[in-house]
Amino acid sequence: KVSVECRNIRLSYGKTEVLKDISLVVEPGEFFALLGPSGSGKSTLLRLIAGFNQQNSGQLLVDGRDIGSVPPHKRNIGMVFQSYALWPHMTVWDNVAFGLVERKVRSAELKTRVAAALELVGLSQYAKRRPNELSGGQQQRVALARTIVIEPQVLLLDEPLSNLDRNLRVQMRQELLSLQRRLGITTIFVTHDQEEAMTTADRMAVLDQGIVQQVGSPSNLFDFP
Ligand code: ADP
Ligand code: ADP
Repeated sequence: KVSVECRNIRLSYGKTEVLKDISLVVEPGEFFALLGPSGSGKSTLLRLIAGFNQQNSGQLLVDGRDIGSVPPHKRNIGMVFQSYALWPHMTVWDNVAFGLVERKVRSAELKTRVAAALELVGLSQYAKRRPNELSGGQQQRVALARTIVIEPQVLLLDEPLSNLDRNLRVQMRQELLSLQRRLGITTIFVTHDQEEAMTTADRMAVLDQGIVQQVGSPSNLFDFP
């Protein structure tokens, strides 16, 4: 289990500073939510951790090591996108296997790992389907399987439930959390839904206009009478 630490991170798009001196520590194995309104910089920060964005200044440390100059595919970090970004022409199996093929994992090991990942998300029977033959919740599970099959040290989730209807969202929230607990992967979960953050996160950071306004456990931040 590894920690993720942002130290005084600044990032601008042109003249607009989108992340303004962000410092936070996500502890090993934690389920950490980044909460904030649209445009507050949540996705930008997540993409920076994944390596798709480069900061203008500050450091990003994983397990205490500065990974600022490590390219995305060499970071041991998995990201699930809001839109899932599944390949429509490939079967569920091939979608999940893709990252292992890319990493040249031997075929016997590949089969074991893909089967295990599909089992973990309850989709073993859907291996031969294509994404458009699946419900939204099932597509979400494929996206998760495809990411965890890589065995990342850090899992980044960018509003992964926002395309689901409300009932399914609440169900998937619990599934996601129980999966995270079983795997124990340090997880950063982006959401603009306060209830979602409160019901899942060990701790959370509230972001507004590129600034961390508060950090703490849900019960510390929202002390309802
Ligand atoms: P959030 O995820 O909290 O909705 P984002 O990180 O997506 O916020 O965006 C933060 C700000 O950065 C917004 O004002 C957005 O318009 C701007 N932004 C995001 N991506 C880009 C980009 N590639 N180029 C320019 N501005 C961007
Ligand atoms: P949900 O109620 O979870 O949104 P759906 O009503 O979309 O699920 O689908 C119900 C079941 O039918 C699911 O198991 C799904 O995999 C299956 N299914 C949906 N669309 C197709 C399709 N085009 N071809 C084969 N199976 C499908």
